[in-house]
This record gives sequence, structure tokens and C-alpha cells, in this order.
Amino acid sequence: MTGIRVRFAPSPTGELHVGGVRTALFNWFFTRNHGGKMILRIDDTDRQRSSPEYLESILTSLKWLELDWDEGPEVGGKYGPYFQSERLNIYNDEAQKLIDSKKAYYCFCTPEELQAEREINLRKGQPPRYSGKCRQLSPQEIKDKKAHKNFVIRLLSPETGQTVVEDIIRGTVVFENNIFDDFIIIKSDGLPTYNFASVVDDFYMKISHVIRAEEHLSNTPRQQIIAEQLGYKLPSYAHVPMILAPDHSKLSKRHGATSVQEYKEMGVLPEALINYLALLGWSPGDDRELMSINEMTDLFSLDKVSKNPAIYDLKKLIWLNGNYLRTMKLDVIVQKALPFFKNSDELSDVVHSYREDDFKKILEKVIDLVRDRVKTLRELVEASGYFFRDDFTYDEKGVKKHFSKKNAGEILAKVYRTLKDVEPYQPEQIKNALGELSQTLNLSMGRINLPTRLAVTGRTMGPDLFEVITFLGREKTLERIKKAKELFTSS
Ligand code: GLU
Repeated sequence: MTGIRVRFAPSPTGELHVGGVRTALFNWFFTRNHGGKMILRIDDTDRQRSSPEYLESILTSLKWLELDWDEGPEVGGKYGPYFQSERLNIYNDEAQKLIDSKKAYYCFCTPEELQAEREINLRKGQPPRYSGKCRQLSPQEIKDKKAHKNFVIRLLSPETGQTVVEDIIRGTVVFENNIFDDFIIIKSDGLPTYNFASVVDDFYMKISHVIRAEEHLSNTPRQQIIAEQLGYKLPSYAHVPMILAPDHSKLSKRHGATSVQEYKEMGVLPEALINYLALLGWSPGDDRELMSINEMTDLFSLDKVSKNPAIYDLKKLIWLNGNYLRTMKLDVIVQKALPFFKNSDELSDVVHSYREDDFKKILEKVIDLVRDRVKTLRELVEASGYFFRDDFTYDEKGVKKHFSKKNAGEILAKVYRTLKDVEPYQPEQIKNALGELSQTLNLSMGRINLPTRLAVTGRTMGPDLFEVITFLGREKTLERIKKAKELFTSS
């Protein structure tokens, strides 16, 4: 396919959420797969609800996900402007063309009149359609009314027949034209409706494929009617399935984090989020779950996108994130984890006491030890505290269990002596030395290792104990054992 041009058209009226990203992603896969162009258009005609902060946040989120665009804000392009608020003259010109060719007309009906009409329709059991009353106004009447009344512009719409949407994902979808009334294309404030602006932009921006959320499917016949009246060639359409919460209701805030920003703050990796969202409604045709963005781009095709709603599963996203955390290159994870350490209440002072390069070297070792056991970058920080601080708290249950045994103090004292003498101070030697101690004392390894781990980390579980002890170094390990012995044991 040549000349592929797709667009992602967010409204800056909120953060970028999972549904939006998935739409952006499918557009991106499709166009990158075909060597086409990705256009980012900002649908900001709703001035009340649009804000520069949301715009900024959407752009930041897309950049964080590395979903780049070839035309749009910050990069420009020859079909701009890419903000609808800067294209109002284009919509007005197109509306004027429709008026001139009698395919659209001014409507002066007041909200009260329209409401009264609607009620009559409802009483008759008919859908609330506009009667088309203002179609008949003479040029003189229009002139007079325009002088002192608000007006909208309505499109003359077909009353009979059908409008057929050929959707790449959903197949042929037929709409009876009698459900449409003469709908508004320019509102009384002079701004275009979503349907009108969208069609005009899709045409002038030479969009070949409109890939968007299923909730817009019911807008598509209206957009086709507008395009027909304007004599535009239609783009191809693909409506991607809804994303539902696990209880099959509409996904919302109450189901947990839904915005990219929130995931970022939780320590989800962009690679994992992309991988997860790509599989919401699309599959490469086998059971593969872990895929790089390049693999997915190569394998992506719209006809493998499902018609059925996708069910959102935060646990799976987090599971996938854990996988990425374990398998991505260590230096990449270090780089991504660094801001989390810098901003952590517990560790930021420690981080700032090092030169950044030195800290990164230490962090690399710590992350290598703990990353198998965590699923997010935030958890990584939480699991790393004792590597950097001596003033950690001790797991209460662990203290009761391992330090209250009557020979606990004696065991810690023996561990202390063993670690004081072991040479070289390396995991294997430490393991052997503690192993010998367990034999000498005729105690299981657990009776030695568990109180030792608790003393040096405050925890009952964690990465390989001998690696941890080696990382901490002899001095620190001995100090911690001594401290725990004094704090918790009497012997
Ligand atoms: N601004 C619309 C939205 O965010 C765009 C819909 C479309 O892609 O046409 O839902």
C-alpha cells in the first residue's frame, strides 16, 4: 500500500489513558508497518474543556512511549496547522460551500423550540429528530434573522436509504438514513462540531485510514454523509474494540490506574505498557505474549484485530512489566530506575551523597540482585533500601520467629565470628563457611541463614543471602549482626 497516512487525534481534555494509547499504538503499528506517515492532530475545539496542561501531558506521554509522529505539534508538516482551533477558517469555508450549494442551511430555532419538538416526537413514540423547519427560509428571512438571532448550520441529510460503513475490522455496517436528522455542522458559537471538523481535516490532511475507538462507529455514517455532500473521497475506516474492566463495565478510574502518567509513576516500563496494550484486541495469531515493539510492528495487521471487546487486566500488565524488568539490559534498567531512587523519600539523600556515576555502578549491582523479585521500578526502590541504609526496620514477625529462640544470640555471635574470619570475603566462601557452621552446631542451614538475613537486611526474604553479604562488605555486615544481637537477644 502506498500513501498510507493515519492520524491520532486526541482532545486535550484529560490525560492520555490506556484506551487512547491503544488507539495511537494501532495507528502507529499500521503506518510504520506500511512505511506510511503518522499525523498527530489536536482536536481542541472544545475550548472550555481543553487545556495546555493536558496537551503537554499527552505529548509527554507519547514521547515517553516513543510513539513518534511525522506531522503535528512540535514537528509541523505541510498539511497543518495541526490544531483544530487554528483551522476555524477552513471549517467555515467548507460550511459556506455547503450553504452555497444548498447542501446546508442556517437554522435559527431556539433551544426551547427544539425541546418542544423533541417532546412532541417522544410523545408520538418517534426518535427525537429535527423537523427541518428552517430548510424553507427565504434569502430575505435568513438575512433578517441573522441580524438579531443566534444560528447554527445544519447539513441537509438523506431521509431515506442507507449509509453503509465498510469497516476493516467490523465488516459492513449498515445504518438506516431515517435515524439521522439534519445534524449541526457549525454550532451557534461559530465552532464546528466534532463530526464536521474531523471529516474536513481527514480530507485536507489526506488521511488514508481512520483507525479509532469503536465508540466513534456511530459517528462514521454522519461523517460519510458530510464527506459525500462535500464531494470528498472517503478514507478507509477501522474501529478498534472497546477496552472493558474485568467486570465487563466501562473501564474507569475506579478500576485503578488508567492514565499513562500514573503507570509511569508506578514504575511501569513503556516497553511493557506497549506490549500489554498491543495485545488488548490484537494478537499475532499465536500465543506469544512477550514481543518487542519492532516484532509487533512487523506482525501487525488490522485484520487480526478482534471485533470483541478486550478485557483489561492490571495484574497481567504488572506481570509483563516484571518480565521486562528481569530481562532488559541492566544498564537500561539502571537508567530508568535512577529517577525513582532520586525521588524516593527513603533514599534520595543517599543517592545525592554519591557522584552520579559512582551511584550508578552501585545501583547496577543492587538491581542485578533484586530485580528478579520485583515487578515495578517503584518496588525495586522499596526492595533496595537496606543496601544503602543501616537504619532499616526489622520485620516484626521475623523478629518473633527467629530472634526469640533461646540460642538466637549465640547463633548470631557464631555467625559474626565466622564472617569475621572468612577469606576471601566472597559468596562461595561465605556460603561454605556458614554451611560448616551449621554442621558444627548441628543445626539446619535455615537456623543459621534466616536470623542472619534478618539481622543484615531486616527482612525474612530477599535475594541470595551470600551475594547480599558480599555486597555489603565485611564491616557493614558485622556491624549489623552485632546491632541485631544487642537489640533483640539477651545472650
Ligand atoms: N478527538 C476525538 C477523540 O479523542 C477523535 C476521534 C477520531 O479519531 O475521530 O475521541
